[in-house]
Amino acid sequence: MVNEHSEEGADAGERHGPQVTRRALIGGVVGAGLLSIGSSLMEPAMADEPVAFRADAPNVYTRAQWNARSPKRPARIIGRPPDRIVIHHTASANAKDRSLDHAFALSRKIQMWHMDGNGWNDSGQQLTISRGGIVMEGRNRSLRAIRAKNLAVGAHALNHNNHTIGIENEGNYAKAKVPARLWDSLVEVCVWLCRAYDLRPSEAIIGHRDLNSTTCPGDALYARLPELRRAVAARLAGSGGGEGATGASITSILPSFDGFG
Ligand SMILES: [Zn+2]
Repeated sequence: MVNEHSEEGADAGERHGPQVTRRALIGGVVGAGLLSIGSSLMEPAMADEPVAFRADAPNVYTRAQWNARSPKRPARIIGRPPDRIVIHHTASANAKDRSLDHAFALSRKIQMWHMDGNGWNDSGQQLTISRGGIVMEGRNRSLRAIRAKNLAVGAHALNHNNHTIGIENEGNYAKAKVPARLWDSLVEVCVWLCRAYDLRPSEAIIGHRDLNSTTCPGDALYARLPELRRAVAARLAGSGGGEGATGASITSILPSFDGFG
């Protein structure tokens, strides 16, 4: 289905605008030129405060870094951890561009689809991973909420947004293989979230189709969720005594996060 997320992601109260199909929106955007539209929509991200990161979190690019628009209203915060991590695919093109510029443009496009196309308050998902493995904050307040063991309520899994956190993985994985860099970052992000929220990967990590009537995250990615759960569990078990080797491996793989704290 073309419209996997736009019809299904938001619970009551989120929608404000007209419903536009993703295909119609993409067609219009491509026709007009992605870059020019992305630029014209940029606004100061007033609601987004800088977030400092510790070494035990993956490098997550902030909304300010990808030039997010301000949300229509700030995300609602629930003062408890989510109990499920929901894996999505964007069902967009399997781009070959692995650059930071491409990743940031992806985040802006998703925000535009969700705000202007679906009429939502902001990007629906809390986190986004590009095919190059670049991790970005989606919905406003998500990073601060994770650090505080809270949930910034998103719009990614109909009727389940109050207890789930969503990760959008760039690409369409109905058949295509998941790029190694995307996979490695997805493991890192799930390790981080399971650790931050004290979740067991075996039960916490699920696919969107486990909650709603959708093909998301595609058969190819969905088939790898057992492997994802095992990889995350192994990493968590290996980090038992403290930060040690696990913390070191994260910081050596990912650029240090400074200058934004
Ligand atoms: Zn989904």
